[in-house]
Formats: sequence, C-alpha cells, structure tokens
Amino acid sequence: MKIIARSGWGARAPKNSRDVIHVTWATRTEFVVHHTEGPKTQKVRAIQDFHINGNGWNDIGYNFLVDEHGTIYEGRGWLVVGAHCPDHNRTGIGVAFIGSNNPTALAEKSIRWLYDEACRKAGRKLKKRTHGQLYATACPGPRLQAWVNAGMPIKEEPPAPAPEPAIKIIMKGDVPQWPGRVLEYDPDESMMFGEDVRVWQAKLAKRGWKIDVDSWYGPKSAAVCRGYQKGTGLPVTGKVDRATWDMTWSWTKPSTPSAAPPPSCEPTTADEAN
Ligand SMILES: [Zn+2]
Repeated sequence: MKIIARSGWGARAPKNSRDVIHVTWATRTEFVVHHTEGPKTQKVRAIQDFHINGNGWNDIGYNFLVDEHGTIYEGRGWLVVGAHCPDHNRTGIGVAFIGSNNPTALAEKSIRWLYDEACRKAGRKLKKRTHGQLYATACPGPRLQAWVNAGMPIKEEPPAPAPEPAIKIIMKGDVPQWPGRVLEYDPDESMMFGEDVRVWQAKLAKRGWKIDVDSWYGPKSAAVCRGYQKGTGLPVTGKVDRATWDMTWSWTKPSTPSAAPPPSCEPTTADEAN
C-alpha cells in the first residue's frame, strides 16, 4: 500500500520545528485507532489547520489518517510524538479514520495494513487499542471499537474465479481438430462456453440440425448431440466426446441408396432440440 506523504496533501510545516519530538521503535508499544468525528470528505489539510489554529497544537495530531477509500495519509509519521491521546502519544501510534462511526471495509483494510507495518517495523506485536480504551471519549465510535475488539479482522475479497482456458481450434485442412475437452451439459454445473462449442454447433447447423450457434453448450445442444449420436450409431450420451467430434466432420453419406438417410436430414431427430 502507498502512503500519501505530507507534501502530497499540501501539509504546512509544524508550527515550531523544535517541538517535533522523535522517539524510537523501542518506545512504541501500542497502536491507537481514532475517528475524526467529522465528514468523510474532510480534507487532511483542513484537519491540520483545525489542530494547529483551533487546538493550538504544533501539527496535525495523528500519526496517520485513512479515508473511506482506504487512502493513507502521513500525519506526523511513524516516530514523531503525536497529539492524539494524553499519556499515550509517545508509546502509541495514532491512526484516525476520516469520518464519524462509519468506517468502510477499505478503510479497515488500510488501518490493519498500517498496524501490521508498524509491528513489522517495531519487530514485535504492538497492542491494538482505541482512543476510548485509554481515555474518557467515545472516539472512535462503536463500529471501529468493535472492530478493534475483534482483533481488526479483514474481510477477504473472494478470489476471482479462475479464467476458463481459452479454447483454440486447430484446423487440419478444412477439419477442426478435437479441442481436447468433452462438451457436456450438467444442470448442476456452469454451462460450458467456448469456441469449440461454437464450431461444433455451426457444423451441426450447417448439416440441417436446428441448433443455436451461440457458443453455449446447454440442454438444446445436448439434445441435438443425442439425436446426432443416435443417427450415426454412436453411443447416445449427449456429450461431444472425441468420437462424436470426429464423426461430425468425417461422416459421409452412405454410398448405397439402401442405407439409412443421413441424420442431418431427419427432422424428427433434429426436433428433439426443441
Ligand atoms: Zn480519538
């Protein structure tokens, strides 16, 4: 994650540079969560102006601030003594959510990231605290309070579904080669989709079967497949396996007139698709 540095949000210099007091990581023992108790849209610079002009502080009080989008702003930074919680400004890193008891998942994620980063830099676990646990205040509001009490859990985003492997059809002359997967329809599974389905559907349509050429292998495609398999003497499975795929392109009209009519001309079987 990225921290917007002071220069990035137009910070003014602390009132008196001699009052900027640094501590070391050995002094930091806790991480203190706040909210600003103001509008979510409040600019960090406006908060700083209020802390300096209104409260008479040397600088913005917090070490870091996080907005509703999860953007992190540098306040006094990791190791400068803040002005956020009496008696805990040397030991505690003060982090404020910009808002009033309305934290977002993105803000929580960033606050948690700051906490983990602080522990990493300190080389040990810091205590998870809220302003209200250390001082008589309602800050940071019940929602952030409950979240810190729960251990600052992060809602994991569900992993993106693995992309379907792109099916490429390799041609051998005019004949598309078996794509390597069996086309089948299972109502309990997501419908198969791809160029292989489209190519097979197009061939069947060309042969006179009533089939939508839409790249989706659904119940209608499976029904046409069963009809086609029946007509060509293949095991009737409704699945376009290698034998069915190859037959789709290798099947030729029987040379003798007494042979069964080609399945492509059998409207009764093709009608099964409806
Ligand atoms: Zn507070």
